[in-house]
Amino acid sequence: MGVDVRIWYDTEFYEDGRTIELISIGLVREDGAEYYAETILGAHFASRSQWLRDNVLRHLRQGDAVKTTNTIRNEILAFAGDKPEFWAYYADYDWVVLCQLFGRMIDLPNNWPKWCRDLKQLATYHGVQLPAQEGIEHHALADAKWLRDAHLWCEQYINTNGL
Ligand SMILES: [Mg+2]
Repeated sequence: MGVDVRIWYDTEFYEDGRTIELISIGLVREDGAEYYAETILGAHFASRSQWLRDNVLRHLRQGDAVKTTNTIRNEILAFAGDKPEFWAYYADYDWVVLCQLFGRMIDLPNNWPKWCRDLKQLATYHGVQLPAQEGIEHHALADAKWLRDAHLWCEQYINTNGL
């Protein structure tokens, strides 16, 4: 078995209290590799609420970023590798919408963990105030890169301060 490879990711999604629909997803791997994609219906869903129109729709890249969910699933599978360790921020909805690319929970790849780590929980547990995000927000790849940076900063802060 290989070593766990950390993957920081973020999604933008539409949700109405009953269902979650993926709009876009960005992932950053520990070695610095990045992945970004938007769903075919992403722009459609991103136009369905005022908040999404104001915060998400305008950041969508469209064009070659738009892919079928089958393609997104297969590309993420390859990107994640043999032993991924997933990190998100306020992770719950992001985790469900990522997992739903595969169908049900039991349809997840065997080598994937059935849970996601959450920087919000780590920071809260240790009483750490995370640095504010600068630049573009609510673009899934920009958010994933902030998450990576904030997580590494947080780990160092915890170690330095013996928390
Ligand atoms: Mg986001």
